[in-house]
Amino acid sequence: MDNGLLKLDDLLSKVTAYAPDADTSIIRKAYYFTQEAHCDQRRREGKPFFEHPLAVASILADMHLDCKTVVAGLLHDTVEDTETTVEEIVDIFGEDVGFMVNALTKLKQMEFRTREETQAENFRKMFVAMAEDIRVILIKFADRLHNMKTLRFMPPHKQKLIAAETLDIYAPLANRLGMGWLRSEFEDLGFKHLHPELYEDLYTKVAAKRQVREKFVMTLASTIEEKLNAHDIPGRVSGRVKNFYGIHQKMQAQRVTFEEINDMLGLRIITQTKEQCYIILGLIHSLWMPVPGRFKDYIAMPKSNRYQSLHTTVLGPSGERIEFQIRTEEMNLIAEKGIAAHWLYKERSRQVEKKDAMYIEWLRELIHLQKDSKDAREFLEMFKGEIFSEVVFVFTPAGEIRELPAGATAVDFAYAIHTHIGNRCVGARCNGRIVPLKYQLKNGDTIEIIISNTQSPSRDWLNFAVTHKAKNRIRQFIKVEQRKQGIELGTSILEDMLKKHKIKLSTLKSKKMQETTAQLNYKTLDDLLMAIGYGKLSPRHVVNILNPELKEHAETQVDAKPHKAKKPNLGVHITGVDNLLYTTAKCCFPIPGDSIYGFITKGKGVTIHRTDCHNFKRSALLDENRTVNVTWESEENTISQAKLYVETVDKPGMLANLTNVITAFNINLSHLEARSSQNKHAHFVFILDVRDKPQLMNLSSKLLSSDGVISVNR
Ligand code: MN
Repeated sequence: MDNGLLKLDDLLSKVTAYAPDADTSIIRKAYYFTQEAHCDQRRREGKPFFEHPLAVASILADMHLDCKTVVAGLLHDTVEDTETTVEEIVDIFGEDVGFMVNALTKLKQMEFRTREETQAENFRKMFVAMAEDIRVILIKFADRLHNMKTLRFMPPHKQKLIAAETLDIYAPLANRLGMGWLRSEFEDLGFKHLHPELYEDLYTKVAAKRQVREKFVMTLASTIEEKLNAHDIPGRVSGRVKNFYGIHQKMQAQRVTFEEINDMLGLRIITQTKEQCYIILGLIHSLWMPVPGRFKDYIAMPKSNRYQSLHTTVLGPSGERIEFQIRTEEMNLIAEKGIAAHWLYKERSRQVEKKDAMYIEWLRELIHLQKDSKDAREFLEMFKGEIFSEVVFVFTPAGEIRELPAGATAVDFAYAIHTHIGNRCVGARCNGRIVPLKYQLKNGDTIEIIISNTQSPSRDWLNFAVTHKAKNRIRQFIKVEQRKQGIELGTSILEDMLKKHKIKLSTLKSKKMQETTAQLNYKTLDDLLMAIGYGKLSPRHVVNILNPELKEHAETQVDAKPHKAKKPNLGVHITGVDNLLYTTAKCCFPIPGDSIYGFITKGKGVTIHRTDCHNFKRSALLDENRTVNVTWESEENTISQAKLYVETVDKPGMLANLTNVITAFNINLSHLEARSSQNKHAHFVFILDVRDKPQLMNLSSKLLSSDGVISVNR
């Protein structure tokens, strides 16, 4: 028997060991097909290329995956690197295998281009293909694993690039998909090639103490086993050292040396039932002192990758920290194999079942959210943010657990429940207590969202929303709203202009108007009106086309100056609506730094109010459709007017004291009123030229701390 056949037999016996009744003829066929296809190619190290797909298939068999995946693993490089076509593969090996090989080929075609964005695009495609058939990523994982194991044959700079990518993307992704063993492998292989010296050093140090450690673990294990026997609880105990990359990260994060790391030892106890897990936990805590704050119950609250286990750290016999993981066989399977467990033993269809769907639900959502965005790099950033994020677990009022990224707020929770809830939320009840929307969720909170039908998303929410879903939906809403408001404003501006020229308002609905719209290159009347609202199109221009005779008189007409975005002297730009005509309100004197709203005033554009302005609240209540979200764009080198009300005791020299404080701030006083009231208090009103809110706040607190001052208000 030659070497090649031995290898085929190895592969087949691996598969039949876990899938005795599998039809392995398809694997045999793929083996010869692939060998033939790659026959004249060699790997970088000089070995026949065929060894690579064979190794990949063998890794997939080690993962106990179904035959189709093993076959696709064998074939994964044939279309890209040989004359083979996808059609041929579909013909011989069927649709599923064809889909996987095709997806892998497309990914590979991009791999060898160097530009960063191409690489990002490559990942985006990988995730899309993966959402379609998760086995694509499993094969990609096996491919990457074998390539990492043979990475030393690559030129050094390529080694570093590939190693970094493995640490950045593949390891966290394997973790997110619940494949604990693979994550460790990726991390250690990546670490080894990215920081060879650090790795060597750590490797030597860990190896040096190996015997001592093994002996120690044996002693601990037998202590526990005795205890388990005494209580008639089944369980197997195994000891492990954290992986090298894990130790390295710990040293970095805690800024400690290898010698100072005192918890790289972990013991795992695997038992049969959930109840036994908790009993074992109790037994361990009765043997050794638990370290406070280190107990985690991932059985009651599984991680997002379905990981379940009890974690606790105790102080061992000689005071060292030992971490215990306690779980059932089934939990252990999921912890190690994750999503791959879905394809164990049985042949299944491409679709992932409900139980396993949660592995990739987040991914589908991510892909859905960025469908419109052309920027693959943005997607990659989003993805990285998503897979690295810590999480909090909170409850719905019905007791359902929801998982959100750490730092998520009530508004994120609302959107996580439903977009409809998010769009209408006004506040939340956290453990029965009312909290604002920006409330940061804590583990174990029970959150109930309060909604109102008159509520709509506000730009402010973007300041504290953290999930992509919430941010995206809020932006979407604002975009639609802004368009609506732009159209409304444009309509009122154009109507005013029509009135001025004694043109009937019904003209807006005329055929003439349609022609004008087309002539000005707008698709719809709404688009044209929006352009007017945003100040991009002059309403005069429109009127001139509607009624050319007016044009000659235009120059002499005083009140017909072209509509143009006005930049007031204060030089502040308002974003939110581009180039909109606006003024700041004289009732509340908004200054940069204030939270503000715009209110559409017919013919005048938008008036900017502070959000806490009573005038604004009243107007908004009458017609909330006329409010617009606005923000300060530039807060530098601008001067705005602000009004301060100061109440003091009525005594001589008071005003001089106050103005001294104000001038010490280098603030110009442009208006002053003073009166005294019956209760012997003096009331001052100052109108001041200030830079921004912080400056005004500083001044206010300085004034308030002056002798005799009772209150300072805006
Ligand atoms: Mn390959």
